Amino acid sequence: EKYVAGLDKSSTSFSDKINSLAARYREIDDDYFEELENILIMSDVGVNMVMTIVDEIKKEVRIENIKDPKMINDIIVDKMFVIYANDSYMTTKINYAKEGPTVILMVGVNGAGKTTTIAKLAHKMKEEGKSVMVAAGDTFRAGAIDQLDVWANRLGITCIKGKEGGDPSSVIFDGVKQAKEAGVDVLICDTAGRLQNKVGLMKELEKMNRIIKKTIPEGPHETLLVIDATTGQNGVNQAEEFAKITDITGIVLTKMDGTAKGGIVLSIKDSLNIPVKFIGLGESMNDLQEFDLEQYIYGLCH
Ligand code: GDP
Repeated sequence: EKYVAGLDKSSTSFSDKINSLAARYREIDDDYFEELENILIMSDVGVNMVMTIVDEIKKEVRIENIKDPKMINDIIVDKMFVIYANDSYMTTKINYAKEGPTVILMVGVNGAGKTTTIAKLAHKMKEEGKSVMVAAGDTFRAGAIDQLDVWANRLGITCIKGKEGGDPSSVIFDGVKQAKEAGVDVLICDTAGRLQNKVGLMKELEKMNRIIKKTIPEGPHETLLVIDATTGQNGVNQAEEFAKITDITGIVLTKMDGTAKGGIVLSIKDSLNIPVKFIGLGESMNDLQEFDLEQYIYGLCH
């Protein structure tokens, strides 16, 4: 039930479409499958995945001799569960350090919702009783440091910062050092999302990783990629680019409240096999939820 409000757009549009499809066809035939394929593709489920799902459904329909289109919804859900139910994808839990601060790097292009997500995540962890610090490692985008600082003040947590245009790695170094000294549980680090300068970004992230490891050898414990779900296939392409540049351990899909195309989750899984760990459902600090694949798939089709 917890996704019903936020994912209204995704679920109504997709389920409305397959329900109306079922209502228009008295019998399942080739035209029916063609329309089903189109609906899935328009929902940003990747083309390969659509083929796999539709093939599986066709098989089931033949073997079970199913004629009534109304029975298809449950079959779609079943097939999606089978396809997506692998352990690595289901792990949405944060990999916390056994001892000392857990270091989380946040990456993603400008405008994806990185800063807001850092605030939401910090808030969520605070509510779970953890102490949190943030480091303003995006020294590139004008205003990024102030924006994070404003959130930190609102949350009553410390924000480690340097100068705009300064070396982001030195901010991260200070952050890790202070987080360790202060004994905080989690340090969340902002980074610049300069995907247009891939070599520069890769070097910057490599340096940050190196600097974190100097103080905390097993860090960073997570590198979370923030993707705007409303960008559809572009978001999937972005994720692929980032995955080439650095090791991504999880994805946060933002603006899921503003998209009718929920299929991006499945598309990302299809092309990268990186778990979606959180979804953003609005602009306030409470609008972040742990991603639940089973509920998501069920919500899509009902
Ligand atoms: P950044 O450039 O990646 O740091 O992006 P920001 O955190 O500044 O977010 C860009 C815009 O998207 C801001 O107006 C946010 O309020 C908005 N935003 C972020 N996450 C969400 C979300 O989950 N839902 C909605 N509706 N808006 C969001």
